[in-house]
Amino acid sequence: MDIDRGCRSKLAFFLKAEAKRVAQGMSRRTGEPFHLYRCPACRHDHVGHVVPEPIRLAA
Ligand SMILES: [Zn+2]
Repeated sequence: MDIDRGCRSKLAFFLKAEAKRVAQGMSRRTGEPFHLYRCPACRHDHVGHVVPEPIRLAA
């Protein structure tokens, strides 16, 4: 898995509160669940459609 490319294609946030707000807004707009997770590669919070399994297991 190309972690660097994955980071660039996703949104990164410095503030967890902001990331949470964006995730909730995207879920409302699309009607699909979005998740907030801490990226081990760049150490920022990402909002993604699906939480990558290694991160989900570590949470
Ligand atoms: Zn990242």
